[in-house]
Amino acid sequence: MSTFVLKIQDLDEAGKDWNFAIGTDWLTSALADTELSAGADSGRLTVHAQRTGMDVLVQAHVEAELSATCARCLADVPIAVDLPLTALFSPEHMRPHGSAESDEIDVQLDEVNRDYYAGAEVVLDPMVREYLLLEAPMKPLCSDACEGIAIPDHLRPPAEVFGDAAPDARFAPLLKLKEALTKNEE
Ligand SMILES: [Zn+2]
Repeated sequence: MSTFVLKIQDLDEAGKDWNFAIGTDWLTSALADTELSAGADSGRLTVHAQRTGMDVLVQAHVEAELSATCARCLADVPIAVDLPLTALFSPEHMRPHGSAESDEIDVQLDEVNRDYYAGAEVVLDPMVREYLLLEAPMKPLCSDACEGIAIPDHLRPPAEVFGDAAPDARFAPLLKLKEALTKNEE
């Protein structure tokens, strides 16, 4: 069920404004199969849309609060989305041959995105979702200095395992002996 719907009959050349709440329920279902989840509060989608012939130009702004998981310590990482969205929707029959209908739209920031509408309404839900995903970091971190989950001392491997520790003092007499033997051979 779509939430952000503009009815073609409501649009004109002068343009009209819409103000939608991006509810946490909507966010939760839109982000269900992603690494992101809904933040604590609802977001906002403001839309200015105008119709020229059968084309609909949408200039919108997406604001939402999302949550990701820190790649190092698994803590929640808040992600604020605050993006302008510009898109030109044309009737479905104008879609170029060979470009299949799909829920996955390739959206770009700072560009006019192209999409198509079927019937008498423009549905913005899939595009809003793609915009939110644009803001998902590849590797979310709660802070650049995050040191990850603290490993208890008894689970830490001894320092020698890493090879850069000073030689064990107990080997010192052996090293001396080796030096002495090497000298004798000369
Ligand atoms: Zn962290």
